[in-house]
Amino acid sequence: MKLHNFNSGPSILPQPVLQQAAEAIINYNNTGLSLLEIGHRTNWFQEILQEAIASVKQLMQLDDSYEVLFLHGGATTQFMQVPMNLLDSNATAAYCDNGIWGNKAWKEAKHFGNVAVVADSSDKQYRYINKDFSIPDGASYLHITSNNTVEGTQWNQYPTIDIPLIADMSSDIFSRPTNFNQFDLIYAGAQKNMGAAGVNLVVVRKNILGKIARPIPTIMNYQKHIDAGSLMNTPPVFAVYVSMLTLRWIIENGGLAEMGKNSLQKSTLLYNTIDALPIFNAPVVKEDRSEMNAVFFLNDPALEEPFLDLCKQEGMIGVKGYRTVGGVRVSMYNALPLESVQIFCDLMHSFAQKHG
Ligand SMILES: *Cc1c(COP(=O)(O)O)cnc(C)c1O
Repeated sequence: MKLHNFNSGPSILPQPVLQQAAEAIINYNNTGLSLLEIGHRTNWFQEILQEAIASVKQLMQLDDSYEVLFLHGGATTQFMQVPMNLLDSNATAAYCDNGIWGNKAWKEAKHFGNVAVVADSSDKQYRYINKDFSIPDGASYLHITSNNTVEGTQWNQYPTIDIPLIADMSSDIFSRPTNFNQFDLIYAGAQKNMGAAGVNLVVVRKNILGKIARPIPTIMNYQKHIDAGSLMNTPPVFAVYVSMLTLRWIIENGGLAEMGKNSLQKSTLLYNTIDALPIFNAPVVKEDRSEMNAVFFLNDPALEEPFLDLCKQEGMIGVKGYRTVGGVRVSMYNALPLESVQIFCDLMHSFAQKHG
C-alpha cells in the first residue's frame, strides 16, 4: 500500500534527498568512506557546510549583516540560547504566546531576565493569533512563533516594530517567499521542513550580539560559533548533510516561490474540503489558518476514532491531533505531494457520505 506521510515532525523528506543520504552513509561521493566516518574538518565536510550556508543565504536573500549557523539541539535549545545571548538579567524581553511552543519559549527566557507576554491567545485555546499588543519601553526584543505547529495557526503578516524581531520558524521555514531581512534572529529545528533531527538553523544579524553583561558559556555563545564558522566542536555532520540536500532540492524545484505556490494549493484544497463537509469543522480563525498544519475535528466526537481508523487502513500516516489538542492534524510540508492531499480529501468525502 502506498503511504501518505502527514507527520508533524520529524516529517516527510523529498525522495531524492533520502536516496542520496542513504548512499552517503555507505559511500560518500565515491570516496570509499561513509559520511559518518569522515572528519568534520575535511574539505568534504567543508563543502557540505558551505553549500548549506550559501543555500540559506540565497533562499532568504540575506544581506551581509547576517550570519548563518548550524548548531546542535532542537528548537528547544534555542528557547534558552536566545535569551542567554540577548537578554540581560535586569532587562525585559517581549514574547507572543500564541501556542504551546511560544509558551515554552517565554518560560525558558524567564531563567535569564524579565519577560513581558505581550499577546496571548490561550483564552481561546490558541485558535487564533493575537496580534493586538504593545511592547514595553526598552524591551530587548520581540519573540514570535511564525507557525504554531500544534494548533495550526500561522502569521501572515509579521509585526513591524523598532526592536529586534526574533522568530521560531521551525515548522514553516522555506515554505513560501518571506522578507527574511525584517528579522534579526531566526531559528528552526531542521526536522520539519528542512532535514533530519539533530540540527538547528540559526540566522542572526551580527549587530545584535555582544550587548549584554552576562558571561555566556562557549558552546552557547552565538558569537563564538560565528568566529568558528559553525565548527567550534563536531557538528551533527549527517543532519547538516540532509539539510544541505533538502536546501538544494528546494532550489532545484523552483525555490520559495514554487514552495509557496504548492503550500497554498495543498492547504486551500484541504480547507475547502473541510469547509464543504458539515461533519468536519476547523475551529481556527480563518485568517490565521496555517498552510503547514491543518487542525480539524469531527462534529460528532464519536466519529473521530472511526475516521482515524480509516486513515490508518488507507495508509494516511500521522494525522492524529497533538495529544493535548485531539482531533485531526494534517501536516503539509514542502516534500508532501499534492496528490497525497487529494487522496486524503477523497477519503474525507467518502467518510462524510457514509456518516453524514
Ligand atoms: C517542533 C517545534 C519545536 C521543538 O523542536 P525540537 O527540535 O523538538 O526542540 C519548537 N518550535 C516549534 C514551532 C516546533 O514546531
